Amino acid sequence: MFRPKAVISTGETLNKWRREIIEEAFGRVYNFYGAREAPSIAGECSDGSLHVFSFNNLVEILDDSGRKAPNRVLGNVVVTPLHNYAMPLIRYEIGDMARAVERRCPCGSILPRMGRVEGRTTEFVVRRDGSLLGGEFFEGVFRVEGWVREFQVI
Ligand SMILES: [Zn+2]
Repeated sequence: MFRPKAVISTGETLNKWRREIIEEAFGRVYNFYGAREAPSIAGECSDGSLHVFSFNNLVEILDDSGRKAPNRVLGNVVVTPLHNYAMPLIRYEIGDMARAVERRCPCGSILPRMGRVEGRTTEFVVRRDGSLLGGEFFEGVFRVEGWVREFQVI
């Protein structure tokens, strides 16, 4: 039986239930965050933190007014790729939402941290109090019901 040492996920948000399924089949999953226009943004360490590859991109987590989001607050991911000379992107709003993380990681890495990407900006529902509810919430609700194969929230 082939068992990889690790699996790297990319492309979609690695939510809890996807991680569980992949880890049950293959073992440890390391979340990797990147995009076509800004590759290699961040990667997960052995302690489960997402470290920004600051040698590739300048990453900012900003609130709706464009200010730096406080620690643990959900904000827009804004990226400035440092090696894309053909098509420079400066403070590019990539369309993802993540939490700001200011504390150092216990793994000892000097790379800055960011919270995991919690979804696309268009996937969030604004509650009456103005707080955001991620699309992952609905996946959790409907996933419990085994008879639901697909759903759409409008
Ligand atoms: Zn770490």
